[in-house]
Amino acid sequence: MTPPPSDFTRRLRDADKAHLWHPFTQMAEWVAGDPVVIAAGEREFLIDSDGNRYIDGVSSLWCNVHGHRRPEIDEAVRQQLDRIAHSTLLGLASVPSIELAERLVGIAPAGLTRVFYSDAGATAVEIALKMAFQYWKQCATPQPGRTKFVSLTHGYHGDTIGAVSVGGIDLFHGLYRPLLFPTLQAPSPYCYRCPLQMRREDCGMACAAKMEAILAEHAGEVAAVIVEPLVQGAGGMITQPAGYLRRVADACRRHDVLLICDEVATGFGRTGRMFACEHEGVQPDLLCVAKGITGGYLPLAATLATERLYEAFLGDYSQYRTFFHGHTYTGNALACAAGIASLDVFEKDGVLGRIAQLESLLRERLAAVARMPHVGEVRQRGLMVGIELVADRAMRQAYPAAERRGGQVCLAARKRGVWIRPLGDVIVLMPPYCISDESLARLVAAVEQGIAEVTGA
Ligand SMILES: *Cc1c(COP(=O)(O)O)cnc(C)c1O
Repeated sequence: MTPPPSDFTRRLRDADKAHLWHPFTQMAEWVAGDPVVIAAGEREFLIDSDGNRYIDGVSSLWCNVHGHRRPEIDEAVRQQLDRIAHSTLLGLASVPSIELAERLVGIAPAGLTRVFYSDAGATAVEIALKMAFQYWKQCATPQPGRTKFVSLTHGYHGDTIGAVSVGGIDLFHGLYRPLLFPTLQAPSPYCYRCPLQMRREDCGMACAAKMEAILAEHAGEVAAVIVEPLVQGAGGMITQPAGYLRRVADACRRHDVLLICDEVATGFGRTGRMFACEHEGVQPDLLCVAKGITGGYLPLAATLATERLYEAFLGDYSQYRTFFHGHTYTGNALACAAGIASLDVFEKDGVLGRIAQLESLLRERLAAVARMPHVGEVRQRGLMVGIELVADRAMRQAYPAAERRGGQVCLAARKRGVWIRPLGDVIVLMPPYCISDESLARLVAAVEQGIAEVTGA
């Protein structure tokens, strides 16, 4: 369908293959392929160096919220550029970082009043872990024995060493175990492949009971529980049964354990509410946000904390209760300006209402996909979708990983003008909220045709 590449594209591809090392990419395979080189974007479309357009079906790895070249955000960044691009938050305050912090506290679950900025989801998580750890050493009645973290199998919190320590994806994390701090792992609420071999009809949410048991057994040793609320994203778009998060939060309260909600993927409207915690009325002690925070424009993250947590870090300098942590670009002005403009668009355009429309439209379109013979399960929460491919539907048997069926489906979709990236054999859809009804239909059709082509059914 696409014409042969121009000399311009050929030159860029060669230079890319000569010099770049891409994330989460087997480079031996990459250099044998024909990478798409993105040169521009517009709304829900990516445009390559030859002018071909692709629907950005995963919002540029889950972060683009209102589409590319959103005029209001472009303008806010330009205006900020006319003032200053960056100044440090170490010893100085800055206008956009203050204004964005006020706005974030205004929309975050109740009780989160303090904003600590960083640059990536992984750093937002590192910060939450270090704050939780330090909290128990410095709070009014210190409990220095609370040093452990409870995380979930199939969990993903980023790729730095602390974040990997609380990760639960063996393929990504297993090799590094000798470098990591040990954690207590609770079973993921992955109903389609229940780690406890139970059935969702009558399990009584045994995975939540297991979490409760871990907290009871290790009472007084646990600093915090870290979870991705409602959807475990990178683990395979694993949607949690209703009430799971609530039970985990209640157990944390009973055992006086801090709750860290990692909303790096689910935040900013993805699940249909501004934050996923809201669906279950959960108020975490620490909230990590990143991906969507700038509308997908610039790297920025934030760890929000409660007043109780913050107060444990106050004192005379000589008490050394300070949170000794920071990054050079913390609270970058251009990024914060983009973040403010993105929140303005949410309000001005009633974006959460549009997300609700898109959610049901997507659900309707996916009904046919769910019936395909090699689709084991379609999981959807808001505008987060995982389509799990299987070799045998009745036995829920996976394809051999080396066959790369998920990757093949994405290549097949690319021929049809859609760019998506899978998680193994789980096809991920996470469209930007500006997507038209027509593009949404094209996105699902391309995936459906791609699955048919690759699974031969
Ligand atoms: C993507 C992701 C991260 C890591 O964010 P980066 O910005 O890539 O470091 C952390 N947690 C969750 C839930 C994520 O989906």
